[in-house]
This record gives sequence, structure tokens and C-alpha cells, in this order.
Amino acid sequence: MLRRTKILATLGPASNDQQVLEKMIRAGVDMVRMNFSHGTAQDHLGRAERVRAAAKAVGRTVGILVDLQGPKIRVRKFENDKIVLNKGDKFILDAALDGLGNQERVGLDYKQLPDDVDVGTVLLLNDGMLEFHVTAVKGREVHCVVVRGGVLSNNKGINRQGGGLTAPALTDKDKEDIKTAALIKADFLAVSFPRTADDMKLARELQQAAGGKALLVAKIERAEAIPVLGEIIDASDAIMVARGDLSVEVGDAAVPGLQKKMIKMARARNKLAITATQMMESMITNPIPTRAEVSDVANAVLDGTDAVMLSAETAVGDYPVETIEAMARICINAEKETEESSADRRMDHVKFTRIDQSIAMSALYAASHFKVKAIVALTQSGSTALWMSRVSSTTPIFAMTPVDATLSKVTLFGGVHPIAFKIESKDHSVTLHQAEDELHRLGLVQDGDLIVMTVGESIGTAGHTNTMKIVRVGDYRKS
Ligand code: PGA
Ligand code: MN
Repeated sequence: MLRRTKILATLGPASNDQQVLEKMIRAGVDMVRMNFSHGTAQDHLGRAERVRAAAKAVGRTVGILVDLQGPKIRVRKFENDKIVLNKGDKFILDAALDGLGNQERVGLDYKQLPDDVDVGTVLLLNDGMLEFHVTAVKGREVHCVVVRGGVLSNNKGINRQGGGLTAPALTDKDKEDIKTAALIKADFLAVSFPRTADDMKLARELQQAAGGKALLVAKIERAEAIPVLGEIIDASDAIMVARGDLSVEVGDAAVPGLQKKMIKMARARNKLAITATQMMESMITNPIPTRAEVSDVANAVLDGTDAVMLSAETAVGDYPVETIEAMARICINAEKETEESSADRRMDHVKFTRIDQSIAMSALYAASHFKVKAIVALTQSGSTALWMSRVSSTTPIFAMTPVDATLSKVTLFGGVHPIAFKIESKDHSVTLHQAEDELHRLGLVQDGDLIVMTVGESIGTAGHTNTMKIVRVGDYRKS
């Protein structure tokens, strides 16, 4: 059975060498995430090459997502790498400190912090593990009292409860990194901590100037983003439910509801959704997931997410391959419970403005009535496959394209499977027969199966899909 939900795995020291990458791809990775919070441009270029070499060796298409660091507020390093703080301790976050931190104070990357806090502001460190309350702001020093203690180590993140940090989403480092992403030919570019649609529009302009063509992902992880979610989604190609930072900003209990709402909104607007953070957290050190993690992954699938993401599990964990295998197994099982939401319902409240979009929906409509084996989109840009995949259906969608960039983009589209396909004839009935033969050769359809195919009159031009055909596999060979 083909898995509809895509697996996005973060790379790191645990998944650097090509051998491990090949195993991860065999286990089911569809797209990798390169976290630009770590490493140099040179590291990233080398890593992208290894990913593509590994994918080639395995014979699968694997996409690349570049995740920009954004204005993550972090403490700097400590003399002894970490300290232990207890409830009631006093501690200073010192924007003016250049050297290493100690038991009394630590430096900050984000120099504006003293301007963004007041007496009483609640700061959460290390994903909310530690809680500080601000007792005074003196010059560039933020004086705090520790309300919940714990270990604080090098470069841990700081969040302000309720949001309200003034940093723009794209830092100078991000602007440089957008150029590296373009060099890598990243398929997706994720913007961290966007506050508004304008942050996404700026990222799009910068990427255009850098010659990049990645689809843009808005990571929803700031309290400010929630009231303007619709606008942010409209300005993006995909969203990430970034539960790590979002939990700290809006309170953990609000996140499950937001996850469902965000995924629904993204799909309704013809955009993609990724669900991220701590999905298989215990597998960083254990060979099997907890029951709660199994449920979490399954529920994200039932919410309609396109992809589930792994962070530390595959970047630094002890069991990167086992984690992917477990995740794939959970997704496939959850997909059996997915309700077939018929295309009719969506057509009631969506107005189509384009010919290709209408064809995509007609194909879905026919597919749900005829119970076809597969939907086949001969596509240039991948947009037909995207529209088809916005309706939840259990029928696999094969995106057949000669365009490499399209093949690797659709690796993130839920229910869409990339198939490289050369278009050799100008006559589209010949091309459709060749596409049918190729699916047959790959064992994806059998003689006698009904399939729905879409294609454009002027084959090879993006946005020209205007034809739908319902075919019984093998019939043309008999006639
Ligand atoms: P991060 O983003 O892993 O880059 O912090 C995801 C999240 O915050 O959940
Ligand atoms: Mn984050």
C-alpha cells in the first residue's frame, strides 16, 4: 500500500553520512530538512549533494527543505557549557556581555531583548523547561528571578510568554542563507517566526532576487501570527505547525486545537501543511515510540496534514532509521481510517477560476464516483497534482512529469507520488498510452484497472491542463 502522508526528516550529526541517508530513504523519508541554525554554507552544500546521491542510489526522489534560523532568541555560551538554576535564584540575561556566561549571568544573541520586556514579563527558556520572571531592566541587563529551575546549557532558546518580541522575521543571516538555499536548489524554504503576511512577501522577494524557486513555508510559531493566519497562509505555499515555539508562546494546551484549525485552513486555501516537533521524541533514545506518540502521529494524519516532521529524532537521535520505519507504519495504519470526503462537497463552496483547476476537480469527482485505481496527472508545474491532493481521498495521485524540480516538490504533497516521465510525442493520445504503459511497467496499475488521466493540449506547457480521460488499463493494446 502506498503511504499518503509524507515524512520530513531533519538532518544532523546522526544522519550525515550517505550510508545512513540511504537507509533513511529506504525506510520512507520523502523530504529532508536542513536546519540552517547549525552549520556553514559549505556544510549545507555538501549535505545537499549527499542527499541527492543517496536518493539516486536508492532510486527515489527526495525533496530538500531549507529551514532558516530566523530571529530565534538564544542565550550565548557558558564557561562550563551549562549551569544549574534553582527556584528563587537570581539570574541576569545580559545583552552587553561579550564573554562566556557563568552562574550569575549569560550573554544574548538578540540585543533588543531589554527593550522588549518589562517588570513582570515571563520568559521561558529551553522550550519552556525553565521559567524566569523579569524583576528589573537595568541598561542592557534583564534581571530575573528563577520560578522554575533546571539545567541551562549553551545556545538554548528564550521565548516571551504571550509573544511580543519586536525582531523582524528575516535576519541578516537569513538573507545570506536565502542565497545558499537558491544555490542548493532547495524545493522548500521555511521562514521562522513570521509575524505577518509581509514577512512572507519579503522572503519571496529576497528569494526571487537570489534566483531561488522554492515553495515558501510559513512556520507558525508566534502568538502574533494566529490572528492573521489567513493572510499568512495566502502569502505562503505551505505552513508548518511549529509546535515547539508555538506551545511556549500560546500555552501548550491551546496547540492541539490550533493544529486542527491550521491544517484545515491551509487545505481549504490550496496550501500544504506540515506538522512538526516532538512527534517521536522518546525515540531519540528509545528503539520504540510511546503510545502517546503513536496517537499523536496518527491524529496528525487524521487532521489531514500533508507531512509529519522529525527533528532531533533523526538529527541527533540514536535510532534515526527505526524512527522513520515506525512513523511510516503509523501513518499507513491511520490512513485506513481517513474519511473519503467526496469532491462534491468541496465543489459546493469553491469557485474555480482556471481551466486546469476545473479539470483537476473533475478528475477527482470522477475518481470518487468510479472508484478508480489511480489518478494520473501529466503535469509540468505540479499544480494539477496540488489541487487534486487538497481533497482528501484514498486514491493515489501519480504526478508524471519530465521536470526534476516538480518531481522533488511533489514529494511533500499528501497522496501524490512523483514519477519521472519523458514526453516524447506531440500527440497526446500517444503520450497517454506511454504514461499508462509506464505505470503498468512499474507495477502501479494492472490490466483492467480503471484510471483517470489528465493532460494538456499543448503538452509540456505549464498551466495548460485541459483534458481528462477515463481509461481501462490495457484496452488500447487490444484495439
Ligand atoms: P524549530 O521549529 O525546530 O526550528 O524551532 C519548529 C518548532 O518550533 O516547533
Ligand atoms: Mn521553532
